[in-house]
Amino acid sequence: MTSTPAAAALRHPPEPLDPSAAISIRGLVKRYGDFTAVDGLDLDIRRGEIFALLGPNGAGKTTTVEICEGYRRRDAGEVRVLGEDPANGNRRWKSRLGIVLQSNSGESQLTVREMVAAQASYYPDPRDPDEVLELVGLTAKAGARGKSLSGGQRRRLDVALGIVGRPTLLFLDEPTTGFDPEARRQFWSLIRSLRELGTTMLLTTHYLDEAEELADRAGVIAHGRLVDVAVPSSLGGRETAPAVVSWTEDGVRRSEATATPTALVRELSRRFPGEVPDLAVARPTLEDVYLQMIGEAR
Ligand code: ATP
Repeated sequence: MTSTPAAAALRHPPEPLDPSAAISIRGLVKRYGDFTAVDGLDLDIRRGEIFALLGPNGAGKTTTVEICEGYRRRDAGEVRVLGEDPANGNRRWKSRLGIVLQSNSGESQLTVREMVAAQASYYPDPRDPDEVLELVGLTAKAGARGKSLSGGQRRRLDVALGIVGRPTLLFLDEPTTGFDPEARRQFWSLIRSLRELGTTMLLTTHYLDEAEELADRAGVIAHGRLVDVAVPSSLGGRETAPAVVSWTEDGVRRSEATATPTALVRELSRRFPGEVPDLAVARPTLEDVYLQMIGEAR
């Protein structure tokens, strides 16, 4: 179902743009021909936070992010990124953004250090390239050519290229796709160190565990609309959703959804003389609430 921007405005009376936010979006609309890819989106991303944008393929994440980066034009709505309209962003404004697209650094004939130094030369106040290589864990590969890097190392190089200009705001598009579990954890710790340095980050990801680990807040987009925004632990009403208590009784697996799991566990502990067999208490996972939200948005 699509609706006009006017209908979207009726659903959510427009609030003014938030001048203190790193990104402030009101009533954003983007059409490709007859198709409305972004349909009246409102969003504020605070300075210094890591914000994860979640949503199924085709939901409108890349379109929204690219409008914020100044790469795509909008059809309606208001957008401010670091206080400027990205449609009119000048070079100084662009130099405050860091953009890590899906991997693109691998084919160069330059060495890793040369690539990072060349990128640094475009910015007014860049970081020291060697410090950046240290930060992303590529010091040992400084003299290697892009082609010889592994997939995870190329992604680190992408991040190095994205942060060497000392961005205030960093866009990360599916940064850990193809990483092994250890590389992903190392990457998460790099992102946390960037946050400590004060960088605001907008991350798109299909990995819900990544959003849960990294994001201060997450937003779910479906059909070009924001379905919910919250800290990951309370997205979709997760923190107040009933818990499921399960156990085994007379050889049969039993389970009960309850808003008062402690009371049920107390009762079970009275019923069983020792340990309650196979006792487990589970709240809905982020994946459970996410799948429910995007299902309901269909
Ligand atoms: P994914 O998770 O697959 O990257 P996404 O949420 O980033 O998806 P977008 O790339 O923003 O989604 O696309 C939103 C919708 O707009 C999709 O249906 C896509 O086919 C359509 N679309 C995107 N770019 C164009 C374009 N240049 N011309 C026509 N349609 C487009």
